[in-house]
Amino acid sequence: RSIKHVPGYGEHGYNSHLAETIAVNRDIGDKRHPQCKNGGWPTDLPRASIIFCFHNENLIVLLRSIYSVLMRTPPELLADIIVVDDSSTEKHPDIKEPLDEMVALMGGKVKVLRLDQRSGLIKARMAGAAYSTGEVLVFFDAHIECSHGWAEPMMERIYHDPSTVVCPCIDIIKHDTMEYPNNAQQEIQKGGFHWGLIYKWIPLNATQRALGITAPQASATMAGGLFGIARDYFYQLGTYDEDMKIWGGENLEISFRIWMCGGRLEIVPCSRVGHLFRVKNPVSFPDGSDTVSRNTRRLAEVWLDDYKEYYYDIQGGKGRDFGDVSARKHLRDRLQCKDFKWFVNSVYRELVVPDDSNYALGSVRNPTSNLCLDDLQKLDDDKGDKKVGVYWCHGQGGSQFFIFSKDYELVALRKNDYCLDNSNYAPGATLEWYPCHKMGGNQLWTFKTQTKELIHVPSNNCLDARGLKAKDLVKLNPCDGSLGQQWEFSKVYSKETLWKKVK
Ligand code: UDP
Ligand code: MN
Repeated sequence: RSIKHVPGYGEHGYNSHLAETIAVNRDIGDKRHPQCKNGGWPTDLPRASIIFCFHNENLIVLLRSIYSVLMRTPPELLADIIVVDDSSTEKHPDIKEPLDEMVALMGGKVKVLRLDQRSGLIKARMAGAAYSTGEVLVFFDAHIECSHGWAEPMMERIYHDPSTVVCPCIDIIKHDTMEYPNNAQQEIQKGGFHWGLIYKWIPLNATQRALGITAPQASATMAGGLFGIARDYFYQLGTYDEDMKIWGGENLEISFRIWMCGGRLEIVPCSRVGHLFRVKNPVSFPDGSDTVSRNTRRLAEVWLDDYKEYYYDIQGGKGRDFGDVSARKHLRDRLQCKDFKWFVNSVYRELVVPDDSNYALGSVRNPTSNLCLDDLQKLDDDKGDKKVGVYWCHGQGGSQFFIFSKDYELVALRKNDYCLDNSNYAPGATLEWYPCHKMGGNQLWTFKTQTKELIHVPSNNCLDARGLKAKDLVKLNPCDGSLGQQWEFSKVYSKETLWKKVK
């Protein structure tokens, strides 16, 4: 049976029927690493306002989120909890009056704010922030569970430096079993993004690792659902881009803004909050499917400087509507923010940039057939096979944009920096995208600029388009100098034979 047929999944993307059978005040145990400090906090830590925004959340899941805050936040650190109903639909009558009745029993700190029209996450959060009173704003998705001691380590970071924005370590609550596994012994991951301007998790670097498993760690970006920020700093920094709609892109926008305009973004491993990760996001977009892309174009236009061209090359959408960004550009001027080049060189050094530090990039075209190497949209999700094909050259970048890197790899940047990889050295072998491992091996290529051959080094076979038509898988065959084995990159930065000297 496909998971889609399990009741609750269609509506919420998680097993809401099971979720409803679990106590709203269940004990999840202490999820922190034993080395995390227990007590000894400054006595005048700032008070937090917790802001939960939801659109059609399951009532029990929402209640469990609220209770986890009430049960596991020291009263002196909790100013209020604002539950913002972003105009949930009639299909969910239980998050209307029944929620009000439950909240009335929780004491005065919990307040429900109902928006009379669908406003989207960004506006809903701002409404919640305006209604709240604490010195620190903590934004949480409405399907979370705070673990013991979550608040103090976050508040302490902000207390020491109000321009530090903090994310808890986001643990995974399982969508099928509602389990909250203990991950304290595992090293945390931090935030990056790929060139579609979508968040991704990346490992800490060696310097960070040396700081130890409980140390707060700088992170280039935030996932978006869970973070704390000093109220005054949030407003000084220009809150959110209110012309972004519904959901998406706002997490990278505020991340870039924090770093580039003089702040700092961190993940605090001793603050642990579980988030119910869904199998599929049920958020509806009243304006249609372009909403997230439009938000992302706004982000690129305001913050990326010339780097925005890489985004358009790889993701497409150049020339499409993104509204008016002049107010946000003014904000950037007014705050005297640094440029994106600084961000890439100083904060997100892991980013692979498709610039002239590579040997070649763009489309990889076989002139005889006018077929181009194409990811055939197989990199769009994390599932399924990642075979590599060809398609008629369309000159639009996107699925046909690759780099021939300084490490002699052929890399697709649309998702997780996938490298063209093959472990089958027999003639006629097909290829696969595989996460780049920087070890050469089956990901090592050479490009002979004179003969235009693209050679897979370990098998010594040539990339071959002979006899192929659009959507076919591309092959590796013994090099024979034939026309099917000639390839052209749209941009070549090196005239040399791009040959890694291997034994
Ligand atoms: N949300 C909202 N209004 C919207 C879209 C989302 O209030 O128009 C809420 C949603 O209910 C959730 C939070 O914003 O509490 C984050 O969305 P979601 O959990 O879908 O994002 P994900 O965790 O899947 O990235
Ligand atoms: Mn969420």
